[in-house]
Amino acid sequence: MTDTTIFGKIIRREIPADVVYEDDDLIAFRDIAPQAPVHVLFVPKTPIATLNDLQAEQAVVVGRLAHAAAAFAQREGFAEDGYRLVMNCNGDGGQTVFQIHLHLLAGAQLGRFGT
Ligand code: 5GP
Repeated sequence: MTDTTIFGKIIRREIPADVVYEDDDLIAFRDIAPQAPVHVLFVPKTPIATLNDLQAEQAVVVGRLAHAAAAFAQREGFAEDGYRLVMNCNGDGGQTVFQIHLHLLAGAQLGRFGT
């Protein structure tokens, strides 16, 4: 199945993005509307619309996103200061792009989250 979202277009290089990491399984690029000094999206190349669609045998996909984000934080030198990883699901979760992705937010003391 093809990822028809904007992230699929970024993966296929149909539209530009500030790519900071890529391997066979995932791509990471800076968010176009950053919510923190560092805001990077980690996106699997396997099309999965929402976390609700994640099959048990695909759980490793999310683990890979988290591991890539942690490795990026180490490489960029802010792992010790800290960072936040977020995945939004559907309307109440604030999901706007229906290809699962992990937000990495860092570079400042982040506020508490909620409504
Ligand atoms: P969501 O709201 O689905 O959790 O997150 C989607 C994120 O994708 C948002 O933070 C939004 O700013 C970002 N985004 C949407 N379109 C683009 C785009 O074309 N390029 C990049 N780099 N980020 C995008």
